[in-house]
Amino acid sequence: MSAGVDASTLALPIFDHHVHLDDPLLTLPGQLDFQWRDAAAAGLCGAVTAGYGPERDADAIAALAPGRPLWRAVGLHPWWLAAAADDEARHAGLRQLERQLSGPGVVALGEVGLDGLRKQALPIAEQRRWMARALGMARAFDLPVVLHVVRAIGHALEELRACPPPGGVVHRFGGPAELAPALCALGLAVSLDPSWLRRPDKLAAVVHATPPGRLLVESDWPLDDRPWSAALQEVQALVAAIAALRGEPVAAMAARLVEDAQACYRLG
Ligand SMILES: [Zn+2]
Repeated sequence: MSAGVDASTLALPIFDHHVHLDDPLLTLPGQLDFQWRDAAAAGLCGAVTAGYGPERDADAIAALAPGRPLWRAVGLHPWWLAAAADDEARHAGLRQLERQLSGPGVVALGEVGLDGLRKQALPIAEQRRWMARALGMARAFDLPVVLHVVRAIGHALEELRACPPPGGVVHRFGGPAELAPALCALGLAVSLDPSWLRRPDKLAAVVHATPPGRLLVESDWPLDDRPWSAALQEVQALVAAIAALRGEPVAAMAARLVEDAQACYRLG
C-alpha cells in the first residue's frame, strides 16, 4: 500500500473489469452473493468475470443475476492449454469456446495469451499458435480480447501485429513501462493491479507512458484469499495514486476509469 493513502476512507467507484467469479474457491452456497454485496458497499459498480476454460462456463453463467452489473469473457487461458491432455483436447476446447462466445453476458474473448514463466506451460511457439487462433476468432466475432501475457511480451506483440484484435486489454500488465505505448498503438488498454503500489517509481513511469483512456485498474479477485471488498480498497488506493501522478482530482479520475473500463468492453 502506498504511503499516505488511507484506502478504507476512499469509497471510490470501481468497475472491476478483471475478476474470476467462476473460481473453484467460491464454492460455498451464498458466498458470491455475500461478496458482491460487501464489494458493492465498498464501491464496486460493475465487473467482468474473465474466462479460464470451457468447464467453468456454467459457474460463470450462474454468477449472472438480475440487476447485477456483471458481464463475462470466455477464453482458453494459457494454463488451461498447458493442463489439457493433448492437442485433440485443446482443439475441442477451442470449438467449445467458439460456441460459448454467443452465451449470456459475453462481451469479450479471454483470457488468452502467452505465459513464459510457468514451468508447466507449453513451448512458446505452440502457445503462439493457440493465441493466433484465438485472435482470429476475436476478429471473426468482433470481440475485444482479454490478454494474459507473462514474460512473453515480444512474442505477444508479434502475434498482435499479425492479427490485430478489435480492441481489448492486457490484464495485470507487468511492465516495463516502455511497452505500454506499443500495446496502446494496437488499440489495446493496459490494466494495472494494486501490486504496482509497491513499485512507486515504476508506477509513475507506466502512468506517464500510457495515454489517458488506455489505462485500467483491476483486482483479479479472488486472488490472495481475502474479501473482494479488501481487494477493492487496494484498487482504490491505486486509483488515488494514479490521480496524484496525473495531477487530477481523485473522484474525477475514479469516474473516468469506470468509463474507460466500460468503453473497453463496449458497455453503454
Ligand atoms: Zn485473471
